[in-house]
Amino acid sequence: VKKIGVLTSGGDAPGMNAAIRGVVRTALTEGLEVYGINDGYLGLYENRITQLHRYSVSDIITRGGTFLGSARFPAFKEKATREVAIENLRKNNIDALVVIGGDGSYMGAVRLTEEGFPCIGLPGTIDNDIRGTDYTIGYFTALQTAVEAIDRLRDTCSSHHRISIIEIMGRGCGDLTLNAAVAGGCEFMILPEVAYTKEDLIEEIKLGFSKGKRHAIVAVAEHMLDVNQLAKEIEIAVHHETRATVLGHVQRGGSPVPYDRILGSRMGAYAVELLIQGQGGRSVGVQNGKLVHHDIMDALNNMKRPFDMDLYNTAKRLF
Ligand code: ATP
Repeated sequence: VKKIGVLTSGGDAPGMNAAIRGVVRTALTEGLEVYGINDGYLGLYENRITQLHRYSVSDIITRGGTFLGSARFPAFKEKATREVAIENLRKNNIDALVVIGGDGSYMGAVRLTEEGFPCIGLPGTIDNDIRGTDYTIGYFTALQTAVEAIDRLRDTCSSHHRISIIEIMGRGCGDLTLNAAVAGGCEFMILPEVAYTKEDLIEEIKLGFSKGKRHAIVAVAEHMLDVNQLAKEIEIAVHHETRATVLGHVQRGGSPVPYDRILGSRMGAYAVELLIQGQGGRSVGVQNGKLVHHDIMDALNNMKRPFDMDLYNTAKRLF
């Protein structure tokens, strides 16, 4: 391996810049050339590829988002599109690629590897929903953001004896909502991993007020239900003003917290080591604090994302 490429794909996440920097600086230290691809697989298809130098990644470790840009490009599922992409990589004499993104981006990396172009996947998403890693790059920054938002809502809810429903991201994974709820001291949670009924939720909120609580905060994982509708139903049932807040893309931005910068840096460096060893089709993870790598397809198909039921049970006892 002499020349490697790096791209970010799918939803952006704070810490992606640290990962790109990790790739670039490690590769240069190892005597490789590095090329940055703009806007993920779209830029690969459109041959928007430029050489990166040490200074290309100066001053980006503190910045959220991804300076390379990211994109959703469904056409990459077509073989013909990927053939153009591989041709562009070959034209630039690039031998291997680091893909930073989520599950979907990993599938693109698998296909490219199967079609003769070795790729390493790094888990870049705030959702913490990738198999084969305890944490994804961006998760802890989003957690910080969600908790800060809950803290602010708590101040105003408490002053007005109000009920607040807060919708938190996670795309089918409840980690962000559960952990934000515990750290933010939320009274109730609705998570994809745990069955719930609205009736039970309403009864619990009523019980809280009967015990003298001044407010209630309900953390809801995205895609579970319509939080504005839930707010209306709760207000009618509990006779307390109820408001819904959808945190949305605010959770994806911001300067990465130290853990995400460190994780991105470590994983970026590790991806380069794996490519130098001639590995492809691998996804990098961190498990029990150690960097690991798995066959991407095996991780996607056979590994489970364990849900922290202990933390959930602890949380239920804190309300
Ligand atoms: P996030 O978790 O933030 O949504 P993601 O990587 O899962 O990130 P997707 O939009 O699912 O986001 O995927 C990103 C891109 O990866 C797609 O737009 C497409 O270009 C490529 N991709 C997704 N699935 C495949 C596939 N089956 N084969 C080839 N490429 C794919």
